[in-house]
Amino acid sequence: MTICPECSAETNYNIDCAAFFSECLALEFTDSQYDEVHHLTVATYMLQHSSRLSLDGWLATRQLLREFLVENKSPLLIKKQNKSIVDNGKRKWKITSRDGQAFINRDTWAKTILDVNLNNSTAYRGTIIAWARSVLKSSESIPFVTHTGLPDHRTGNQHDFS
Ligand SMILES: [Zn+2]
Repeated sequence: MTICPECSAETNYNIDCAAFFSECLALEFTDSQYDEVHHLTVATYMLQHSSRLSLDGWLATRQLLREFLVENKSPLLIKKQNKSIVDNGKRKWKITSRDGQAFINRDTWAKTILDVNLNNSTAYRGTIIAWARSVLKSSESIPFVTHTGLPDHRTGNQHDFS
């Protein structure tokens, strides 16, 4: 048994979060019933595993999850929105992490990807949505919101996202 350093999921050596995530994606790519929640799977996993994201990328992902779950925007609509932002050159920051360091405390989360039920598509969609809602709620309780407001816990410096 090990504890995921990013989301505190208790994993065994046969399957860690990354391996479980891969299994989810494999199901989604091969079965349209599973694929219905693909956008939630990816955004939620990324939010919980912050080593993959820059702070701006993390904040944008949280906003994306909020648009899916609270504002009920479709993945297609959001794709169009984002495309126009990228095409217009408005986005000046990187989504992916520069240093591969996690910056969200692993104890933030009430649910992890291991709470997802792979047995059938109905259970799968239900548990993905429950996990996504829980993660959004937990992520919104983190007391930083601005692009420059996150203290860097490793160095004590502010991140520079200019
Ligand atoms: Zn994890």
